[in-house]
Amino acid sequence: MATASQIERHSMHSSIMWFKVEEIYNEFEHKCGIIKLKEVADAMTMEMHAGLACEDGSKLKMLNTHLNNLPTSDEEGVYYALDLGGTNFRVLRVQLAGKSGIKSQEFVEASIPPHLMVGTSQALFDYIAAELAKFVNNESDKFHLPKGRRRELGFTFSFPVMQTSIASGTLIRWTKGFSIDDAVGQDVVAELTQAMKRQGVDMHVSALVNDTVGTLAGGRYDNNDVAIAVILGTGTNAAYVERAESIPKCHGPPPKSGEMVINMEWGNFMSKHLPLTSYDSSLDAESLNPGEQIYEKMISGMYLGEILRRVLCRMADEAALFGDTVPSKLKTPFVLSTPEMSAMHHDTSHDLQVVRDKLKDILEISNTSLKTRKLIVNLCNIIATRGARLAAAGILGILKKMKRDTAKKGETPKTVIAMDGGLYEHYTEYRTCMENTLHELVGDELSEHIKLVHSNDGSGIGAALLAASHSRYLEADGS
Ligand code: BGC
Ligand code: MG
Repeated sequence: MATASQIERHSMHSSIMWFKVEEIYNEFEHKCGIIKLKEVADAMTMEMHAGLACEDGSKLKMLNTHLNNLPTSDEEGVYYALDLGGTNFRVLRVQLAGKSGIKSQEFVEASIPPHLMVGTSQALFDYIAAELAKFVNNESDKFHLPKGRRRELGFTFSFPVMQTSIASGTLIRWTKGFSIDDAVGQDVVAELTQAMKRQGVDMHVSALVNDTVGTLAGGRYDNNDVAIAVILGTGTNAAYVERAESIPKCHGPPPKSGEMVINMEWGNFMSKHLPLTSYDSSLDAESLNPGEQIYEKMISGMYLGEILRRVLCRMADEAALFGDTVPSKLKTPFVLSTPEMSAMHHDTSHDLQVVRDKLKDILEISNTSLKTRKLIVNLCNIIATRGARLAAAGILGILKKMKRDTAKKGETPKTVIAMDGGLYEHYTEYRTCMENTLHELVGDELSEHIKLVHSNDGSGIGAALLAASHSRYLEADGS
């Protein structure tokens, strides 16, 4: 039996603890109200202008993709894509049948061994070229091309690249846990081509695209109103169709279409209006790329679980959330992944069993009270909500830049936004919050004209489509 003074001490401890907990809460909450989000959106629009005005005009690179024509659905034949981006990479084969659409598609997916993300350029490219070799070597005869004709490949490379043409470009820097120094500044198509040679793969890269650009192309193939693509996955980014005359930094004759696709690299967005907390600052300082990708570090899948871990660590330390000591597992960076956080956030069991199991299995924390588990679910909610609301503000920023943020009587264009990425696809609470926030930001009337569609694997298919539309055989075929 506990004595009266033990009980008193315990309840005092517990009220101090919950007071501290509330204080930590407040750091996140109330900072993403509509007014704040509108400021963030305005800042995004302003940075877009600055990034389009001149190179290095903004943290937003606003990269010219050298892509002036999106797929038309006349594309025909068998094309390949290689999709290298976050944690997985994929090899795809797509058979296009002109107006009748995609006749067949097949892919293999593999995860990238972590040591290759921080090794050498040659090791990484040899590995993906070897996977590509396996894929084509196992192919059935029906895909064999006529003699003298090489397979054509769209390369989706989801990192900031300064493109010099539709099929070449140099890596500006790595993001998302990749850090391979000798690849920075190199032409990634040349790197891949050399690796394919070493692995005996006879393929020609006819398009180099960012995943957002692939998603835009894939989305446009299905729906002519697609004008923006957003990835919310391990990392985050957006691409959109800009009028050539609005891009002062691009000299030279404008393309026939009068439009150009811009890869914003919005993950690197930074503004004094972003509601940064001490967790964001320490996460950034200890990351592989300090000072870079600040917006990405607040909203994307690579980081949400890590933010949660940092908050829990502080609560464990300052409010003894898990007893007298900070559980040692909790001190390991990135032990809590966003899918695990999402699983806890979506726990609907009455005693929060999923949360209990995750704490036990991942963090080796047992005997938590229901109150503590509820608190953890609330924290998941706060962190995911902040990310989702900031992502919605970013989209409003693009709509503003495109002057599609107000409903005009009778002439409001329909704007379809192609969405993809694991966070968007699998983290339901996040997705719902993002969509609701966007609705809240643009209002009921305009909401009718804006549609988000999930463009599943759009980036891979889009790259294959772009390989087709930029095929060097097209002219020879007279098509
Ligand atoms: C990269 C972008 C990419 C995004 C989504 C970011 O980290 O810089 O190029 O589009 O992740 O994959
Ligand atoms: Mg997908």
